[in-house]
Amino acid sequence: MVQVVSAVGLPSREPKVWHSMEVEEALSLLKSTSDGGLSHFDVKQRVEKYGRNELTAKKGKPLWLKFLQQYNQPLLIVLLCAGLLKALSGSYVNAGVIWGVTTTNAIIGFIQESKAEGAIEALANAITTETTVIRDGQKVRIPSRELVPGDIVLLISGDKVPADLRLVQAKNLQIDESGLTGESVAVEKHVDILKPDTPLAERKNMAYAGGFVTFGQAVGIVVATGNETETGKISQLMDQHTNLTTPLTRKFDKFSHNWLRVVLALATLTFVVGLNTRNFTEALEAAVALTVGAIPEGLPAVITVTLAIGVSRMAKRNAIIRKLPAVETLGSATVICSDKTGTLTENQMTVQGIYASGHQYALTGVGYAPDGEILRDEKPVNLNSDKGLQETLLAGILCNDSLIEYKDDRWTVMGDPTEGALIASANKAGFNQASLTRQMPRIDTIPFESDYQYMATLHTTPAGKIIYVKGSVESILKRCSGMLNSEGQKRPMDCVETLNQTSIEREVNIMARQGLRVLALAKKNVPDSQNSVDHHDIEKGLVFLGLQGMIDPPRESAIKAVQACQQAGIQVKMITGDHAVTAQAIARRMGMGKNGSVLAFTGAELSKMDKTELAQVAEEGVVFARVAPEQKLRLVEALQSKGEVVAMTGDGVNDAPALKQADIGIAMGGAGTEVAKEASDMLLTDDNFASIEAAIEEGRSVYKNLLKAICFILPVNGGESMTVLLSTLLARDLPILSLQILWLNILNSITMTVPLAFEPKAANVMNQAPRNPNEPLLSGNRIKRILLISLFNWIVIFGVFEYFRATTGSLPLARTMAINSLIAGRIFYMLSISQLIPNLIAKMDGTIEENVDIPAIGFGIIGAILLQIVFAHVPLINYVFETAPLSFQQWLLCLAIGSPMIFWAALANKIDPPN
Ligand code: ADP
Ligand code: MG
Repeated sequence: MVQVVSAVGLPSREPKVWHSMEVEEALSLLKSTSDGGLSHFDVKQRVEKYGRNELTAKKGKPLWLKFLQQYNQPLLIVLLCAGLLKALSGSYVNAGVIWGVTTTNAIIGFIQESKAEGAIEALANAITTETTVIRDGQKVRIPSRELVPGDIVLLISGDKVPADLRLVQAKNLQIDESGLTGESVAVEKHVDILKPDTPLAERKNMAYAGGFVTFGQAVGIVVATGNETETGKISQLMDQHTNLTTPLTRKFDKFSHNWLRVVLALATLTFVVGLNTRNFTEALEAAVALTVGAIPEGLPAVITVTLAIGVSRMAKRNAIIRKLPAVETLGSATVICSDKTGTLTENQMTVQGIYASGHQYALTGVGYAPDGEILRDEKPVNLNSDKGLQETLLAGILCNDSLIEYKDDRWTVMGDPTEGALIASANKAGFNQASLTRQMPRIDTIPFESDYQYMATLHTTPAGKIIYVKGSVESILKRCSGMLNSEGQKRPMDCVETLNQTSIEREVNIMARQGLRVLALAKKNVPDSQNSVDHHDIEKGLVFLGLQGMIDPPRESAIKAVQACQQAGIQVKMITGDHAVTAQAIARRMGMGKNGSVLAFTGAELSKMDKTELAQVAEEGVVFARVAPEQKLRLVEALQSKGEVVAMTGDGVNDAPALKQADIGIAMGGAGTEVAKEASDMLLTDDNFASIEAAIEEGRSVYKNLLKAICFILPVNGGESMTVLLSTLLARDLPILSLQILWLNILNSITMTVPLAFEPKAANVMNQAPRNPNEPLLSGNRIKRILLISLFNWIVIFGVFEYFRATTGSLPLARTMAINSLIAGRIFYMLSISQLIPNLIAKMDGTIEENVDIPAIGFGIIGAILLQIVFAHVPLINYVFETAPLSFQQWLLCLAIGSPMIFWAALANKIDPPN
């Protein structure tokens, strides 16, 4: 642990009691300064010495243990026992093959599972968290893993604490450290020095890696990174295991437990009946054959593959699954509650209208470029003659945490697009952000938060100290006691006819109806002694300066996606902190209305409603505006009480409860806070609503493919068990032996079923109503389908075997014929439930554009045929599996015998449509 200072300029690594030393001491020990931070040179040196700020993953379970866990399924244990019985009765080859095939199955399962885990982990790791630091005196955003001891980190609410920090400054800071301390309420933090023996949970001047800032702001110096952090020390003890269970796999586990009881009972019956008509070994073979035949050995592996494919397909469409069950839940979503700004809209803001000192102004120009003019009555304005306009623009550019930059041939915003628009509008009047910041330096800030809907900054100006405030009209106007006229004089709110509260509200409505997002700007002069700004400082006495209205056009792709959702029976609701009229205008433009009307409710209205009323309104409403994050939780609950399966987006600090409550919590990869990401089931890498729709589409396909795999595998088990059972009862020779059944169920099933997991989505997935989440895995019709196909399989196995035994007298030949005919039937069955033919037809019609994926199914069929050739023609296999080579005519005959499946399957498809 203890290391001596090795290089000049590098702090020692000896553990220190950071919480019981002065900030200055901590800074000097770490050779850093709070305003300048580290230099590039320092950082380079320190990365070399301390490494990256990453937790080296704890070694998971050893591979052999993971492999053995594959056997921890009742079905496999039964197989092992069956092998043992065989060995005891002297059939060593039989026993060896049963164990061998069981091991093959475990290997396949093991590989699939590791691959799936690996894929999900890789996706999770691809999400990098970022943090704001001061380096070389500049505020920069860097990936958290690049932090080194001595870095100065800036925290605001919603951030994840990226490393262990000694706090240098803290303002109303609250941090949720439950992950580390188990304390579930957020802890208030300060910078004061503490006693050396203060326990970890009470070190209020420290912020520990993994904590979440739930409130306030802070500056801290990194004292430990990576494995040296307190969390790093604990997480070495934790097993970071990727969970592969989902509701469906749990349902399936339950199903297999029950099924096993039935199978064991039937096997006992077979054995007892068998004893009456044949010898012990034969009776045992029949019982084992039945057990092996009735158990779908290959299915668990196929389910894992299907889910994993779903995850990777969603990732390709910008939806990163964080929790595997979401893959299934997505397919049954009935309501999507989406943010407006940035998700449904472009988040490309441009100020188009300003209202100040009783006048309307129009702005020209697009995007964040400074080119454009401010016009009044269609003539360029003279700024000096309009103090109100001047101050409105000034407030917008000063009370601002963002930057605009000319990069790669275009103007882009670094930070919040809303703020970028305000910089651009001021630039059009010739204001320059950098020089203004120098003339009127900022002393303190209240950053923007959705709960308050405003932001405030305190500046030293030539005219004394001034607080500038910007925010939603509602939050600003109620704090104003006066307004500015065009001469720059302060007037009471209702002084003149043309300039008063009502006229402002009228202007707001005019702008909002055009879908403009309206921000109000205000200021307050404060005494020179004031050095900080707090919420109570701006409770009242503000001077209203003006309004700025900006457009934020709907995303084209989102408009299409909203339509697709409606087509698919999924309601889309807009939940926004923005003004109701603005939100309604956008919703209308996006075609979100129900029967032509866009019902809108505001947070204030919702808060007055009781549960039943809220549930009603949540169902009917399309737009929920000025909604505080807490109310999102109520909305989710209200919708769920109506039986809806809710997907909900969120990005803010206080969205976490709603995201957790929602059936699918969706966080924004770009604009979202770390808190929201952590609480979510799914992340959107492009923040776009269209990606939610895409994920739902994939979710529906995954579920369909899972059902297809189940409907494909089970009838073979059905046919096999019927065969063994009936032949035993009728005291006939077994048409199919236990080893042959294993061959079919594991090798053949997996080659043929995995391609079904790769099935492309059906052309009509989004034309159907959402699946009822309570629907059982095997509905009545689905059971009918399985029984029907099982019956066909039984007829084939039993009929072909009896016929060829009677005509050729060869048991191995009759069995090989029976099994190959069964496979032929299976190939036809696979084609009947696959998307391949319908999609090829749709492609020819031009109803779908995507390329139809033939290879997967094609490989499956070729693989199955090759396996059967080996089965019939390789001497060793002939010996072990008791099979016999077939002539070419006999092969063709098998194909012909399997072909009536086409009609049979068509009947099954009528009862239970596969797509
Ligand atoms: P949404 O993201 O759903 O549009 P927000 O919660 O971000 O809603 O914003 C709510 C309101 O707060 C906006 O309508 C706007 O008036 C105001 N607002 C938004 N961003 C800022 C900001 N950076 N500074 C000040 N006020 C803002
Ligand atoms: Mg926002």
